[in-house]
Amino acid sequence: MDLTLTEIRAAIRAIPDYPKPGIMFRDITTLLGNARVFRGAIDLLVQPWLDGRIERVAGIEARGFILGGAVAHQLSAGFVPIRKKGKLPHATVSVAYSLEYGIDEMEMHRDAVLPGERILLVDDLIATGGTASAAARLLRSQGAEVVAACFIVDLPDLGGSGRLKEQGVPVRRLVSFEGD
Ligand code: AMP
Repeated sequence: MDLTLTEIRAAIRAIPDYPKPGIMFRDITTLLGNARVFRGAIDLLVQPWLDGRIERVAGIEARGFILGGAVAHQLSAGFVPIRKKGKLPHATVSVAYSLEYGIDEMEMHRDAVLPGERILLVDDLIATGGTASAAARLLRSQGAEVVAACFIVDLPDLGGSGRLKEQGVPVRRLVSFEGD
């Protein structure tokens, strides 16, 4: 039987007031732990790109590594880790982005992507879009083409997917939770 979006939604655990009061944390570890839903969610996520034209998948630390690795395997594409500052061993390029309080930086290896390469960006969830938008800027700074960004979960009230689309990055997401 095909997996439904309702089943994917139901497999994501909601944890109120984590990591701080007022935040509804959408925990995908329950989805990852369910073999059928994990497999089915990845199969659904990659559907638009089965033509084989994605050259590399870029995953955002840390949950984007789990999903991005599976997506890259499924598309027979390479995988590029986008990491928090100071974690990568070779020469890096970095981008600064705003957090709720202050600024952070993310990095990738300078030679991780080539100009003109077709990249699919992956993370588990998009909220304000600050993280994914910075990752797209980082990839573009090296001349790569960000074909799209994909997520299991969208929190549409926080406007992130709209922000990415305005940046010219098409967004694919499987489920959305309104009112978060
Ligand atoms: P943002 O930059 O605001 O789009 O936040 C996206 C990043 O923060 C992703 O890497 C998510 O894993 C994480 N995140 C933000 N809000 C939540 C939430 N409510 N539940 C789970 N993860 C979240």
